Amino acid sequence: MSNPVIFWFRRDLRLADNPALSAAARTGAVVALFVIDPELVAPVGPTRAAYVAASLSALNESIGGNLVIRVGDPRVVVPAVASALGARSVYVSGDWTPRSRERDRDVAAALGAAGRAFVTSDSPYVVEPGTVRQASGAPYRVYGAFRRVWETHLGAAPLAAPEVDWVPLDGVTPAFLVELAARRRPRYFLDLPDEPASDAPPAGERAGDATLERFVARVDHYDEQRDQPDLDATSRLSPFLHVGALHPRTVLAAVDGPSAGRAAFRAEIGWREFYADVLSHRPDSAWRPLQSRFDALRVDRDAAAVERFQAWARGETGFALVDAGMRQLLREGWMHNRVRMVTASFLVKHLHVDWRWGASWFLWRLVDGDVASNQHGWQWVAGTGTDAAPFHRIFSPTRQAERFDPRGRYVRRYVPELAGVAQSDLARVDVETLVASGYRAPMIDAGVERREALSRFAEIRRPVTP
Ligand SMILES: Cc1cc2nc3c(=O)[nH]c(=O)nc-3n(C[C@H](O)[C@H](O)[C@H](O)COP(=O)(O)OP(=O)(O)OC[C@H]3O[C@@H](n4cnc5c(N)ncnc54)[C@H](O)[C@@H]3O)c2cc1C
Repeated sequence: MSNPVIFWFRRDLRLADNPALSAAARTGAVVALFVIDPELVAPVGPTRAAYVAASLSALNESIGGNLVIRVGDPRVVVPAVASALGARSVYVSGDWTPRSRERDRDVAAALGAAGRAFVTSDSPYVVEPGTVRQASGAPYRVYGAFRRVWETHLGAAPLAAPEVDWVPLDGVTPAFLVELAARRRPRYFLDLPDEPASDAPPAGERAGDATLERFVARVDHYDEQRDQPDLDATSRLSPFLHVGALHPRTVLAAVDGPSAGRAAFRAEIGWREFYADVLSHRPDSAWRPLQSRFDALRVDRDAAAVERFQAWARGETGFALVDAGMRQLLREGWMHNRVRMVTASFLVKHLHVDWRWGASWFLWRLVDGDVASNQHGWQWVAGTGTDAAPFHRIFSPTRQAERFDPRGRYVRRYVPELAGVAQSDLARVDVETLVASGYRAPMIDAGVERREALSRFAEIRRPVTP
């Protein structure tokens, strides 16, 4: 019998529609490897660590307990496991974050030096980042133009799960990831809440399939209802897509069809692919403004800014929709898209805090925390990213609440102090009523801070004097 090959699971924690795994299985016996890289665990808070661990446990169960989890730098661990087994090849699905690409280059080189192959196919996207290009070969900078070309690449059918002859090997349990994440906490979060979300979404391929099936029954209403955070109108697939418990190809195949709801949903999957594409050709945009002139934008970093950031992160700003969103994040490790936009805008535009602080907190608490979607979601809101619409679009937290949560149902769900406020339109409740209800007075005057944001923006628009 020939030696087994290794299938190294990364952002593809599933068996179905996994072309790289199918390719590995065709060669013979397979070792299922997952590597906990302490470097990558650093920005992952306890909630996402617990979610990834739950996804690993589900995967392990579905392969009869044969998942081998090792700890260390994959540049060392993967070649060492391959060498111990005498494995001739390591199979992977392509990964696209800037750090993963560097890591993969190094692993491929180390394996190659020992005469072993690093076989990459597919990616966590329907269309591999870097594929959609203008006629000139340049990448698209604007989503609408990207999407028109991206849509011409869709339509691939999902693959069934392969039969695999798994080979057991010793390793650690998924719980090790949670222990490791608990030991690594960025200092700048100070005493912000640290416990994992009490009400996190379910994990694993089967839970992903069930979530997709439930969503398919409502997808035709998606276009009308997706902006209302009190309804369960969006798919809630982001955590599964993030860890690869589901591939977006499977998702698009399940919602194929002509309705406006389906088209709107496809377009959202398109945003995910667009941001991955942008990050692939501008890896620096993970932590730098995509438009470099925003490097000069004045933001606050003093002790008062730290206090404001902390009040925001705890959901204690006195703006009901912002507080509800930030508390949903703490409780569930997930937040509705409309409210992500409102909370992010509030931090950047009304509290004048650097978008990177907010993006770090989201990455720390979100189960779907994803470098491409999160950093570019923040840059979209901050006006520093791909969007041609500028910095002066400032969401009013009260008008957004009136518009998207007019009956206050979402806000009441997450801000219990407001449960007794018998008012059909919570956004209009006056300050005295709010304070008397045990809630708090707004921490800032939104009108004043809006003008402050606009004047800071005007500073960087002024022509530079020689
Ligand atoms: C400030 C900010 C931060 C964000 N951070 C993340 C993040 O870390 N991870 C993440 O997956 N999404 C992020 N998003 C995008 C979006 O909010 C979530 O994908 C969405 O809320 C997930 O819920 P859902 O699966 O029910 O979405 P649905 O509305 O059902 O959309 C389906 C899928 O499309 C993709 N999608 C939808 N909207 C967007 C978008 N605006 N940008 C990119 N992809 C999108 C997601 O994969 C999502 O699961 C962020 C948005 C903002 C404004």
